[in-house]
Parts: sequence; C-alpha cells; structure tokens
Amino acid sequence: MRIETGLKLGFKDVMIRPKRSTLSSRAQVALDREFTFLHSKYKWNGVPIMAANMDTVGTFEMAKALGKHKIFTAIHKHYSIEEWKVFMDSIDESISEYIAVSTGTSETDAKKISIIFEQNPQLKFICIDVANGYSEHFVKFVKKTRQKYPNKVIMAGNVVTGEMVEELILAGADIVKVGIGPGSVCTTRVKTGVGYPQLSAIIECADAAHGLGGQIVSDGGCKVPGDIAKAFGGGADFVMLGGMLAGHEESGGKTIEINGEKFKQFYGMSSETAMNKHVGGVANYRASEGKTVEIPFRGPVENTVQDFLGGLRSTCTYVGASRLKELTKRTTFIRVQEQHNQVFSK
Ligand code: 5GP
Repeated sequence: MRIETGLKLGFKDVMIRPKRSTLSSRAQVALDREFTFLHSKYKWNGVPIMAANMDTVGTFEMAKALGKHKIFTAIHKHYSIEEWKVFMDSIDESISEYIAVSTGTSETDAKKISIIFEQNPQLKFICIDVANGYSEHFVKFVKKTRQKYPNKVIMAGNVVTGEMVEELILAGADIVKVGIGPGSVCTTRVKTGVGYPQLSAIIECADAAHGLGGQIVSDGGCKVPGDIAKAFGGGADFVMLGGMLAGHEESGGKTIEINGEKFKQFYGMSSETAMNKHVGGVANYRASEGKTVEIPFRGPVENTVQDFLGGLRSTCTYVGASRLKELTKRTTFIRVQEQHNQVFSK
C-alpha cells in the first residue's frame, strides 16, 4: 500500500481569477477551434464541446440540434445499422463532421461499426468507450482499430492518469477520454472507491497528451456552465457533457408525467435501467455503477446551448482571451472554500 499526499482538485475547489482585458464585448470571443489530429491527420473545426455517448443524451436528434452550433455529439452505441442508414440518408452531409460512432471492445461491437463505416464512409470519428481504460484488452483493441482505420479520428477512454494517456496515444488514439467517477449519474466512486478529482485529472492528462501531440476530452462532472470553462482552463481540448444536456426534447429516454409536471428519465450507461434495456439485466458477477433519475423537462436544447456558450464567452472576456484557444494560457486558478451564494436556492 502507498499513499500519494499531493492535493487533487475538482471543479468545486477553484475559481478562475479575472485578468485585465482589452475585449469590450463577449461577441468578440471566438469559441471554435481548429485541430489537426495526431494519427489520422484529419483537420477539424468546431466548438469543442461534446454530447456524451449515453442513450439519454447522445441521440441523432441531439446531433442535429448541436450540429447547428458546430458542437459535437458522440452518438450512443445502441442504434441499429438500419437506424444509422435512415439517419444518414435524411440529412445534410456536413453532420458527419460533428458526430462519432461509439463502440465497446467486443467482436460484435467491432463488426457493427465496420458495417456502419462501410455504409457511410463519410463518417470520420470513432469513440471507443469502456468504463475502465486500464485493461490490456482495451489497449489492444485501440491498436487494432487504428490499424483498421488509419484515417479515422479515434477517441478512446476512460482513464485519469498521464501514463495511461500516453499509452493510449501511442496505441493510436488521437483524443483520450478523461474521467473516472465524476459523472452525474455515476456511482463508481461509491461502489468501488476508485476515482480521481476531475480538474487534476484534466491538468495531468492534458500535459501528457500535449507532450505527444495528442488531445484530451474531459468527460463528466460539469454541473454548471462555469465548470465547462474550468475544464478548458485546466487544459481540456474538448469537454463532454451528460447531465447538462439531459432532460431536453432531443435527449432520449422516457417522458414521465407526475402531478401534471413533465419529467425525463436519465440514467447511467452502467445502471440497472441501461443494463436491463440493452443486455438483458445486470450479470450476477457485477454491480450496477450508475443511477437512474427523473429530471424536470427542460424543453428544446437550444436554450441550454445558448446559456453555456454565453457563459463560456463571458469567462473568456473576464480573462482577456479573444479565442477559446487562449483560455488555458490565461487561466490562473485560485483555491477556494466557497462557490456561489445559495441564499435563494431551493
Ligand atoms: P456528466 O456530464 O453527466 O457529469 O457525466 C457524463 C459521463 O458520465 C459520461 O460521458 C460517462 O463517461 C459517465 N457515465 C455515464 N454513465 C455512467 C455509469 O452508469 N457509470 C459510470 N461510472 N459513469 C457513467
């Protein structure tokens, strides 16, 4: 046994210090970024925020709504090949810039995505997602996927430490997904005791990835728009959102009415609800590591998007960053023991 005593921080432990700025309006801030990915060499331009590959968030409807803002959606892996075909046939080709096809690491998953890519060669992004990115099997799968798809952009995770980010990038990932345990419907930390405070994970993993020319996506733990800004400030190239995009018209999941009020169901992909729906129940050797919640219906996602993009532009003006790209360089975090004033909170 060993104890690491260095302090690790989450979003709630810091604020961003304001800095003198020459910007006179939020409208002067550019939130899009351009990346050329390490292995695929693919050049991408867009707003580097992503909807999570959960079936109550990363839906085709969500992709259509977010794509209008050049925001990315990791489409969940439970759509059939036929549903993919119908979606791709019905829309503007430019959507392929802003969606990823998600997969696990089973043979069946691999076969399914190979058919999706055969039918839709214009799709560019693969999201290889497992709860625990530390397994050898996962690294082998990333290597095999890179060999099979030299020109696709591969995003893979989840991990939270620099050495594993390096291993995945060397195995062929362009973007590494970072986050174990911070998610809004995640119970991994409760069930297993494993995790890593998200802001420190971002800072350490971004450093490792950037050293090799790769990128990271911070996945999970953003509760309010300010957390998205903190994630970018800490060095995240992309920020993935689950709970903040759940509960909308475009989010999947059941709509429920309780006492005349509308709610939407939202659940973790390792929750009992998800396992019952997709794999016929929780296998007897494992525990569910996700919650199921009902959240008040929030209407179209457009309003929420305007709200967090506005917040992010405002962060940039507070620190004098005219482009999102400059935010990390202009960020000084201060350690705090308070966040917002909750006197009028319910
Ligand atoms: P949020 O933005 O809601 O805080 O976090 C979203 C992220 O939580 C997802 O992208 C995914 O990485 C993670 N997640 C989703 N479902 C589950 C689950 O059932 N268990 C765990 N441990 N994490 C989950």
